[in-house]
Amino acid sequence: MSKLKDYEAKRDFSETPEPGLLPEGATGRFVVQEHHARSLHWDLRLELDGVLKSWAVPKGVPEETGTKRLAVEVEDHPIEYLTFHGIIPEGQYGAGTVDIWDEGYFALVERNEGKYHVVLMGRRLRGLYILIRTKENQWLLWKRLDEHGEQA
Ligand code: MN
Repeated sequence: MSKLKDYEAKRDFSETPEPGLLPEGATGRFVVQEHHARSLHWDLRLELDGVLKSWAVPKGVPEETGTKRLAVEVEDHPIEYLTFHGIIPEGQYGAGTVDIWDEGYFALVERNEGKYHVVLMGRRLRGLYILIRTKENQWLLWKRLDEHGEQA
């Protein structure tokens, strides 16, 4: 039972702008930020272990099954980065604009060294996604099943 059940019971989160709780079955929140830095990429971030585990995906997170994409693991980011969008000034690391491309919740299905299976529940990204480390900071990212459990 949630420690915040009294908080939740008193509020209708479809009516109040106050923060709600994670939906049933969700492990945490995720965001994909479109980052127009020196080279355009999309940053996938998963809320895990009190930080955002982060990957830079040069070609973007696939919306359809069957497309494998390179994802480069980057440093953990603070949780507050989930809502960040704006301009990183010239001369600073990652200088350029950051927009939120997708956001929502995810359920962690499996996690091992070098492997994550997560169900993304976003506005654009919905379904089972696999992340597998291939070497060092390089991972492969693909969508295995859509939200209805169908494969491509
Ligand atoms: Mn970035």
